[in-house]
Amino acid sequence: QMTEIENLLGQLNDNQKEAVLENSAPLLVLAGAGSGKTRVITTKIAYCIEKLGIAPYKILAVTFTNKASKEMRERVGSLLPGKGYEQECNIRTFHAFGAWLLRRFGTEIGLDSNFTIYDDDDSLSLLASCYPNHKKKELQPVMKRISFAKDRGLGCHDNLASLKADSTFPRMFEAYENKLHKVGNVDFADLITRSIELLDARPEVLAWVHRRFQVILVDEYQDSNIAQFELLRRLVGPTCFVCVVGDDDQSIYRFRGAEVQNILSFPEVYPGTKVVKLEQNYRSSQSILAVANTVISHNKGRHQKKLWTANPKGAKPNLLYVQDETDEAQRVGNILNRDKDFDSSAILYRTNAQSVAFETTFKRMHIPYKVVGALQFYDREEVKDVLALLFLLMNNKDEVNFKRMINKPARGIGEGGIEKIFSYSGQVGDDLFITLEKAIASGILAGKAQSGARSFLSMFKEANRLLDSEELVACVNFLIRESGLLDYYRKIDSQNSTGKVDNLEALVNALASYDSSRDGLALFLEQLCLDPTTLGKEDPRDKPGVTLITMHNTKGLEFDRVFIAGLEDELFPGKASESDDDVEEERRIFYVAVTRARKDLYLLSAKARRIWGKTSFQHPCRFLDEIGSELVSVQGMKPGTLSNGWENGGYQGFGMLDERRARSSSFGDGTKPRREPMGTRIPSGNNLIHQGFGDKAKTFEMKKSHEESN
Ligand code: ATP
Ligand code: MG
Repeated sequence: QMTEIENLLGQLNDNQKEAVLENSAPLLVLAGAGSGKTRVITTKIAYCIEKLGIAPYKILAVTFTNKASKEMRERVGSLLPGKGYEQECNIRTFHAFGAWLLRRFGTEIGLDSNFTIYDDDDSLSLLASCYPNHKKKELQPVMKRISFAKDRGLGCHDNLASLKADSTFPRMFEAYENKLHKVGNVDFADLITRSIELLDARPEVLAWVHRRFQVILVDEYQDSNIAQFELLRRLVGPTCFVCVVGDDDQSIYRFRGAEVQNILSFPEVYPGTKVVKLEQNYRSSQSILAVANTVISHNKGRHQKKLWTANPKGAKPNLLYVQDETDEAQRVGNILNRDKDFDSSAILYRTNAQSVAFETTFKRMHIPYKVVGALQFYDREEVKDVLALLFLLMNNKDEVNFKRMINKPARGIGEGGIEKIFSYSGQVGDDLFITLEKAIASGILAGKAQSGARSFLSMFKEANRLLDSEELVACVNFLIRESGLLDYYRKIDSQNSTGKVDNLEALVNALASYDSSRDGLALFLEQLCLDPTTLGKEDPRDKPGVTLITMHNTKGLEFDRVFIAGLEDELFPGKASESDDDVEEERRIFYVAVTRARKDLYLLSAKARRIWGKTSFQHPCRFLDEIGSELVSVQGMKPGTLSNGWENGGYQGFGMLDERRARSSSFGDGTKPRREPMGTRIPSGNNLIHQGFGDKAKTFEMKKSHEESN
C-alpha cells in the first residue's frame, strides 16, 4: 500500500526525486522550461509536511507574480487534496512576504502600524508633492530611477554613480525618501529594502524569523533582484533549508534589476550548495520544443542546455501572416470557435495595448475571454477613489490619498485651497484631519471651499464612528454616497454606458466577506495592495474563457493552445531593443512564450497594424527568421515577398469598420463585458516597475525604463 507521498515521488524522474529528497544542503535547481521545477517545489512542500513532519506554517515558498503564487497554491492543494496545506504554508510573492513582515514588526523601524503601500501612481504623486514646480511627467523618469536603485539595494546615501544619473538625482531621491519616511508609508521597493533594514537593525526579529522558517523555497529565482537576494540571504538561518529553482534562459526582468548574477553567486553565498539539473521537458510536444530550442540557441550569453521530451511529436506549429490586428484577432477567433476549448487557450502579446483588438473582436464573435494584468479591477479610477478614502480613514497622515480625494468630486477646493490647508500643517506627517480642522477654524478658505472642507471632515468623523462600531459595510457605503462619488459615477455611467457603479458595488461585496472591524478593513487593504487575486470571487478576471495575457505575465503558466500575437519587429522585439543584450532579453521572452504551449502553437505576424491611431506597415519579427522553415507550417505570404495581398485590395481598411461596428453593438455573450471605455486602455504610464510583482504589466513603459537603465 503506497502512501500518497510515495505515490507523488513515484511520478518523478530520478533528478526530480533527488531534488525533492535533498533537504539539508542548499539546493540550486537549474533547468529549462517545463522540466518540472515548480513541480519539484510543490512536491517538496508535500514531502516536508508529510514525511519530515515539518509544520506547514514553517514553510515559506516565494514566487514572483501573484498569478504564479495563486497557481502554486492550487498545485499544492491538488497534490494533497482536502488537507488545506496550501492555506497554511506561506506561499507568497517576495513583496507580499515583505509586507507581512513589516506589518508585524515595522513599528520597530518607525513605520506607522497602519502604513499604506504606495503603488507607482502614488509614489509619483508623493515625489511630485516634493517638487510642486515640476510636471509629473518630468518626474516620472526620476521615479523610475529611484525604484530601480532601490531594487538594487541602493539607498539615497549610497554611491549612485552606477546609475549614470545627473547630479540632481541623489538630492531628489533623498527628498522622496525623507517624505516617505515622514508620512510613515512605504512604496513597493521598500517592502524588500525596509525588511532588510528591519532584520539588520533588530537581532531579535531576525532570530524570530530564523526560528519561524525551517524551509525556504524560491521559484523563478533567475528573476530575483539584488535587494531580494539580500533579503533571502538574511531569511535563511543556520538551521534553515533553502532551495531555489530557476532557468537563466527565462530571465526576463533584467531591466528592473534582476540579476543572472544571483544564480552564479548562489553557491558562494551558500557553501555546500548542491546543483541539480533537469533536462526532460514534460509540458510540450516535440514540435513545439524544437521551435523553442532553435530560438534560444541563438542567444550567446547562456549556459548550454539540452532540453528534450518524451511527449508525442504533435502538430507542427503554425506561422500565420495576417493583414492587420483585426484580421489577426478574427483568425484566432475562428480557430477558437472551431473547438471551443476556450479555457485551455491563451493569447500572448508583448504590450497590453494589443489586447484591445482581441477584446473587440471576441465580443463580436461571442468568445468568452479574460484579460490578465491590464487595468485590473482594483486599478480602475472609481475603485481607486473609494480605496483612497479607505486608506485615508486608516491613516490620517496619508497625504497622497488626501490630495487625491479632498476635491473629488469637486468641493470647491482647488490647488490654492489645498495650499492654504497645508499651510496649517506644522510639518509633513501631521494628522491631516487636525490640519484641516485648523484651516477651517481659521476661516482662511473661501465660502464654497469652506463648506466643502467641513463636509469632508465630518464625513470622516462619521465614517470613523461607523468603523468603531464595527459596521464596515455601512461605513463604506456611507463614504461612497456621502463623498458624492456615487452620484458622480452614476452620471458618467449614464453618459458613457460604462459600469462604474457596478464596480463600486462589487468592491463593497468584496469587503463584505471581511471581518467588519477596523482590523478587517486593514486586512482587506493589505491583501488588495499585494495580491488582488486572493480577494476571491469578486475579481472579474476569475471567469472561464480565453486568457489574454502579456508574455511577461505568463511565466510559469501552461496552456494546451497558445497564440503568440504581434510578432513584428519594433513591436517585438520592441523599438528600444538596440543592443545585443536587449535583443537577447527579447529572445528569452519569446522563449518563455513558446514554452507555455502544451499541444498547439500559433505564431501570428501582421502586415499592417494601427499604432497610436496610425497605420504602420510591419516587418516580421526577426526571431521568425531563426526558426527553420521545416519546423513550422506557414500560412499567408510573408510581407516583403512578391504580391503579398494587401496592396491589391486585401486590406481595404475593413478592420477599422469592423471595430467600429463592434464597439457600438451590445454584447450578448453571457459574460460580463469589460466596461472600461476602449480609449482608456492605452498604457498610461504608471505601474511599470512592479510589473510582474503585481500583475501590472505596462510594457510600453517598460521599454522606456529599459532605455534608462542602459
Ligand atoms: P517553467 O520553467 O515554465 O516554470 P517548470 O520547470 O516549473 O516550468 P512545471 O510547471 O513544474 O515546470 O512542469 C511542467 C509540466 O510538466 C507540468 O504540467 C507538470 O505537472 C508536468 N510534469 C513535471 N514533471 C513531471 C513528471 N515527472 N511526470 C509527469 N509530468 C510532469
Ligand atoms: Mg515553473
